[in-house]
Order: sequence, then C-alpha cells, then structure tokens
Amino acid sequence: MKIFDLMEKYGHEQVIFCYDSTSGLKAIIGIHDTTLGPALGGTRIWDYDTEEEALIDVLRLSRGMTYKNAVAGLNLGGGKTVIMGNPEKIKSEELFRAFGRYIEGLGGRYITDEDMNATTKDMGLINQETDHVVGLEGKSGNPSPVTAFGVFKGIQAAAEEAFGTTDLTGKTVAVQGVGAVGYHVCKHLHEAGAKLIVTDIKKANIDRAVQDFGAVGVAPEEIYGVECDIFSPCAMGAVINDFTIKQLKCKVIAGSANNQLAEDKHGDMLEEKGIVYAPDFVINGAGVMNVYEEMKGYNVERAMSRAATVYDNVRKVFEIAKRDGIPAYKAAHRMAEERIEKIWRITKILNNR
Ligand code: NAD
Repeated sequence: MKIFDLMEKYGHEQVIFCYDSTSGLKAIIGIHDTTLGPALGGTRIWDYDTEEEALIDVLRLSRGMTYKNAVAGLNLGGGKTVIMGNPEKIKSEELFRAFGRYIEGLGGRYITDEDMNATTKDMGLINQETDHVVGLEGKSGNPSPVTAFGVFKGIQAAAEEAFGTTDLTGKTVAVQGVGAVGYHVCKHLHEAGAKLIVTDIKKANIDRAVQDFGAVGVAPEEIYGVECDIFSPCAMGAVINDFTIKQLKCKVIAGSANNQLAEDKHGDMLEEKGIVYAPDFVINGAGVMNVYEEMKGYNVERAMSRAATVYDNVRKVFEIAKRDGIPAYKAAHRMAEERIEKIWRITKILNNR
C-alpha cells in the first residue's frame, strides 16, 4: 500500500493514524481539504477486513465531505474518521477519550460528529477531551427532520427543472425507505398535495406511512418499476445501477440516500434517459447544515431556514450542467470545485486576522 500515492490520487492534505494500546484504539483521520475551513466529517466504526480497506474508505469519505460541505455553502473543509473494529465489542470510555485527545491535538483542523455505528453518547465521551466535536446530546439533536426539509426543497427544485413548476399537487412520488428522513420527506410531500407510493424492509414503517399519509405500500423490489413522476431514494446507496435503471419510469430522482449512483456511468445513463437527477450530496446537505448551526450555538429556526437553501443549491447544479453541457452529477462536483477555487483566490487579500 503506497500511502502518499493514494493521498495524491484522492487529493488529501493529511492522514493521521491513531493507535492507543490501553484502549485498543485504531483510528484513521482523513483531512482532505481545509481551504474553506476546518475539516468536518463524522466518525464511522466498522470492522474492516484489512487496513487498506479502512484507509481507502476514509480517503473516499473525507473527499466526499469536502464536496458536500462546499456545495452546502458552509465554511468547512472535508474530513472523516474510521475507527477499526467491531462496534459491538470495542467501545469503551477510554477508547473514545483517547480518540478525543488525538482530535484535540489537531488544534481544530478536524471536527467530528456521528457516522455509522457512532452515537451521541460516544460523542459525549470524545467531548470530555475536546470541543472539536458536534452532534452532542441536547444540542442540534436528531438531524433527520432538518435533512428531510432540505430534501423536500431539493425535490421542488428538481420538479421545477423537469415539469416547469415547483407545485407537487397530484404528482406521484415513490419513496424508498420511510425511516428517519424518508418519513418526514413523505410528510412534506403529503402536505404539498403529492400522491405517495412507499416501500421499506420494515413493514411497520410502510404501515405508518400508509396510515399517516394515505400512501400506497409496495414490496421493496417493486419500487423501481412503479409508475411515478419522482423517485426518492431514502434508504441505502448504489440503488441507481445497471439492474434498476432499466425499470425506472420516473422523470426525476431526488432523495436523501448517500452515494445513490453505483458508478459514475449511471449518472450519464440517467442523462441519456432524460431523467432529472438531483445529486445526493447536494440534496441531502441540510444534515451537515444542521451540525454547522450547532457550532454557532444551535437554533432550530436558523437551521431550517438554512436547510431551505438546498432549493437554490440544486437549481445551481442544473444551471452549471446547462452552462457546461455536462450531466448533473458532474456539475455538482464542478460547483464545489469552483467555490473552493474562488475562496482560495480571495485569501491573497491580507485581512490582518
Ligand atoms: P434510517 O435507517 O432511519 O432509514 C432508512 C430506512 O430504509 C429504514 O426504515 C430501513 O428499514 C429502510 N431500508 C433499508 N434497506 C431498504 C431496502 N432495501 N428497501 C427499502 N427500504 C430499506 O436512515 P435515515 O437517517 O433516514 O437515512 C436514510 C438515508 O439518508 C441514508 O442513506 C443516509 O445516509 C442518508 N442521510 C441521512 C441524513 C440524516 O440526517 N439522517 C443526512 C444525510 C444523508
């Protein structure tokens, strides 16, 4: 494994390997780009098969955070941590506090919060050693309703692109996954007059959406092929792939799930099929906007009004796509790169701070 070659490939500034023999902590912090501000991104706990797999994951995820934070209009760079090990077995006070001390040692270059298998309680332990942690209990709290509101605004922006109006009255939206985010997306869509088709692997979640919003429930494998105007993936990644793309009857894809495209080529295929795609890391950006508000003293109204800017961000992606003749998924990356480049250029002005 050639670490510097990988850092060059992914464009990283810094990678920190943290090991503590007392707690058994094995963590890798990836700091991708701090042009816009401190690198913010969650801590994922996962039982990787190899160290190389863990390293590639942290490089990929931290680069993704640079793009997500940049398009969300935040003064934050991109970072991420992976802690190696089985989350059922390795968690302890000393492990999270040891990790907190490593973060503190970075002097604010990196700020963490929850990701897969990490909880607000774990963040509380990290917080005993450092203030460079967000997503704490009693602060910004559960981000899902804020994320969902942003996704709803993004659906409106994508609908405007496809149908010439943000009005969703009578439009049929197929929602995959009615969990923390998906349920609230359904609520907004229902209030906006949309008809809902929903699926989930948990029957109780389907039943709740059927009861609360008059949704039609379908089996998980049926959701791709249903007749609808908008498909909203709110469960897991890689759902736009060779197998599903053939089945889609929608005109818009706009949902909260991370990494929806199995591969870049699927973004090109959507373009060829004339399906408007709201890139995932743009439309789900209100989650990170919510923790950003926590850094400034949390206020839910301010978080919600920031979440509404997802509408403008998704519109901007489509503008760049048209300006440069490229698919939306590429335009989203360009939008992030252009903002980083412009902000980097203004740093030549000495501000005496
Ligand atoms: P969640 O676990 O609460 O909800 C996901 C739902 O999808 C669950 O109800 C689950 O049963 C269902 N599901 C899982 N596999 C499925 C399948 N094969 N078919 C149908 N349903 C399936 O998670 P969440 O917090 O609502 O997040 C949903 C997605 O949005 C994830 O991809 C997450 O990374 C992304 N996201 C969430 C936030 C947030 O604020 N929570 C922010 C940004 C992105």
